[in-house]
Amino acid sequence: MSQLKYCQGPKCHMYDTKDRKKGPKDNKRNETRRRSSFCYLNGNACSMQCQGDWFDVYGQRALQHFGMITQPKVLTKDNAWQYRRNWNHPNADTYYAHNYLTDERRPLTQQQYDNENAITSDGQLTI
Ligand SMILES: [Zn+2]
Repeated sequence: MSQLKYCQGPKCHMYDTKDRKKGPKDNKRNETRRRSSFCYLNGNACSMQCQGDWFDVYGQRALQHFGMITQPKVLTKDNAWQYRRNWNHPNADTYYAHNYLTDERRPLTQQQYDNENAITSDGQLTI
């Protein structure tokens, strides 16, 4: 059983829907949605609206907290690697790293492909 959690949208309780209504007839109130999983804000908001509300309130502070970039990021042949698999029969078990700037291919084992340990999250080949 997964645990229930609350939508992190700061205005979730302000949207008037039937499933948010709680309490007895003479003391009705709307509450933040609570579910085992959500589809927005990386699993933490119940709707695109709540995700947008979160960003409106906290987005600027999050950028300041994690640091704004002050230089452009640059894509070169050194960080243009991505995992590829040949889906064509009979080569469906062929895995490789593909450089999408140079079109170079380097073979990968299935383990390297499955474990994603040959290419860093920022596109550099480590093998
Ligand atoms: Zn919500």
